[in-house]
Formats: sequence, C-alpha cells, structure tokens
Amino acid sequence: MIVDTKVCYDSHCHLSPDITLDKFQEYVKPILESQTWPINIMMTNHIDEKMIIDAISNMGIISNRQIMLNVGIHPWFTHLYTFFNINDFKDLQDFKKFHYMNVLEIYSKSNIKTDEFNEILEYLPIPISIYEIINKFKEILINCKFPERINIGEIGLDKLARIPKSGFLGNPNFPLINGGGLSNYKIKMDHQVEIFKLQFELALNTVNNNIPLPKKISIHCVGCHGLIFEILKKFDSLKIKKDQIPAIVMHSYSGSVDNAKMLMKKLKNLHVWFGISDVINLSKGNQEKFQQLINVIHDKILVETDLGIDRMLENHSDYIEEIVKKLIDLGVDEVTLLDNWRSFTQFETYV
Ligand SMILES: [Zn+2]
Repeated sequence: MIVDTKVCYDSHCHLSPDITLDKFQEYVKPILESQTWPINIMMTNHIDEKMIIDAISNMGIISNRQIMLNVGIHPWFTHLYTFFNINDFKDLQDFKKFHYMNVLEIYSKSNIKTDEFNEILEYLPIPISIYEIINKFKEILINCKFPERINIGEIGLDKLARIPKSGFLGNPNFPLINGGGLSNYKIKMDHQVEIFKLQFELALNTVNNNIPLPKKISIHCVGCHGLIFEILKKFDSLKIKKDQIPAIVMHSYSGSVDNAKMLMKKLKNLHVWFGISDVINLSKGNQEKFQQLINVIHDKILVETDLGIDRMLENHSDYIEEIVKKLIDLGVDEVTLLDNWRSFTQFETYV
C-alpha cells in the first residue's frame, strides 16, 4: 500500500552514469524547468559536469526554486583528476601513465593479471587538472545566480570501490555496454583524501563581497567511517565564522550507530544530516541494527533516492513515497521528515 504522503523532496539524486547530452536535452531539461517539488542533483565526474554546469547557467532551469544543483567529484572518479602538471612531461602518454600509476593500486594480491593495468589505461582519459576544476567550482559557487541552491556534492571516500575494466563507470568510449565488469584496481586512499579535502575547503571559502555563502556538502563514505570522522573533526575545529559553517549530509549513511552518535556529538560546529535511501539503506542489511540507527538519527534524516532522474522520470515521486512509507514503518514521523528538510534548506533555523 502506498501511503498518502505530503513528504515530497529528494535530498540526493543524480543523472545516470550513462547519461548523454542528447538524453539530457530531451528528457532532463524539461523536467528541471517544470519540476514542482524540491530535488537536489549531484555532480559526479567530467561527463555530467558539463550538463550540471549548463543547468546552473540556464535561467529557465535555475530560476525554478525547486532545483538545487551541486558541483563535485565523486570518489569513484577521483583517479581521473591529477595533481601533476602536464607541462612537466614531454609526452602526453608518459604523463597519463605516470599519473595513473601513482593513483591506482592493486585491489587483491591473489588475483594479479599481467597486462591488466595497460588494458585499463587504454580506456582511461588524459587526466584532468584538479586545480583547474577546483577553480572552476569555486567561481561557480561564488558567482552563480542563486548561490543558496548551488552546493557541493557528491564528494567523499570509498575504501571498497574497484575500477571497472572500462576505466570508469559509464565510460562512453568502452565497447561493452556493461563496462566489462570490475578490474583488480582501486584508487589509493591518499589520493581520494586529498581530493576530498580540496573540495571540502571550497565550502569554507565561498564568500562574495564579504557575504558568506554557507554550503551544504553531500558526502559519500563507504568502508572508512573512522577516517572520514578524523578529517571532519579537523575541519570542525577550525575557526569558521558562524554564518559560514557548512551543513554536511552523510548520504546513504552506511556507518554504525556509534559512528552516527560520534558525528552528532563530537562535531561541535558542522551541521550533520543523514541521507537515507532505498537502494543502499532500506533494502539491505540487518534490519534490527538499522532500527537502532533510525532511533538515534530520526530528527536528522533526509529522504533521498540516489538514483538518476533520467531513469525515474515521471515515477520519481513514487520512489520517494516508497522510502517515506518504509521510514514511517520504522517509526519516523512524516512531519519530522518534512521539518528536517525545512531546517536543512533554511540555515537560519539551526545556525
Ligand atoms: Zn549518490
């Protein structure tokens, strides 16, 4: 049974990994122009970056108050971004190989295949300068038309993610539609951490003509909740001006109950929220533990689909209803879910 719910917002959704410019123009733009309830759309990599930035600069879309958009590099794609300078290399292919050798490492030592690295390398693009992209994001965050609706996401850390054989999820230049399965390579944690920190710092530096523009940051964290807590703790202890303090959303939160308590109690400045989705949270795992978690975080929960709006299309609100129904079954009040969203979007209620 679908409950008759008034909760209709999506705190974290996407464009699908296989989105193309044609699909974006044909299906997504009309949705964004006519959307009648709030959706918060993430950026993940260099492909959806172009579409998200196009939407941010399109008045027909961005003047719609229901649309929130984000800039950011998802941890699964951080290997595509480099700290090295292309000008320090005589040969483009040397630059490419040097970078990827530095940021990728073997996933399982018992499964090493010679030549696999070179095979993946073939499909990987020339790495993108991290400094250039950070500057681009900064310029957007500061100078965009509606800064309160342009935020940072999806960024984060993922200890378990393996690189697909196609080099990255949704690589349009790979011959097999399914990406050819997973390779035996992953992205080094140090590299992910550096890219995460650079993006987080953006949130602390978005000030326009002395007017602080506090940001919301959507964080992906899989398999390294202790590490992310340590990093967040350092940011939390910085002397951030009160009206510049960012809100963080631990999206599709997969950490323990104790970790959630730690985030809520030990981070004194950062405003902490937890995104709950059906794909990651409600359809998987130990339901008893999940109930304990819900009891702890219920007034910090935001509803999210974590799915592509180009996939959900006109069924988008049905997905939300399904999640809300499950959360109600776990004892969360519908009014609480609505209040949480209002507080999250209106900083003044919790500053
Ligand atoms: Zn996501």
